[in-house]
Amino acid sequence: MPVAVSEPDCLFCKIAAGKVPADIVREGERTLAFRDINPQAPVHVLIIPRDHYPTAAAAGAAGEGLLDEIAREAHEIAEAGGVAEGGYRLVFNTGADAGQTVFHLHGHVLGGRGLEWPPG
Ligand code: 5GP
Ligand code: ZN
Repeated sequence: MPVAVSEPDCLFCKIAAGKVPADIVREGERTLAFRDINPQAPVHVLIIPRDHYPTAAAAGAAGEGLLDEIAREAHEIAEAGGVAEGGYRLVFNTGADAGQTVFHLHGHVLGGRGLEWPPG
């Protein structure tokens, strides 16, 4: 179960509800994908569940297959963006120390340039 279907003050719940505009690239039954407002790579898309889970850990614990679905969506987005073959990164920042700033689960799909490892 999600923590809430929608949290009133959550930015990504508002995007999922169409109350805040976003450049949407894919719509699934349970997920939505849109371009990051501050892209860090030529392809930088965020994939969110429509329902509110604060972190990847919360969605994983719910056991509803959402993270699998996000991984599949990420690959579709990478293919459409022409970066699937060369490679892309799927990132779930989880918690403030990891740089999570929006506490509604989102996978970042990053590609189209050389990505360094380890990340900063
Ligand atoms: P986090 O740091 O939580 O992993 O990632 C949050 C991401 O959301 C950041 O990359 C940031 O640029 C993006 N973001 C923040 N506000 C908005 C917004 O209003 N619209 C879109 N499309 N992206 C946003
Ligand atoms: Zn939310």
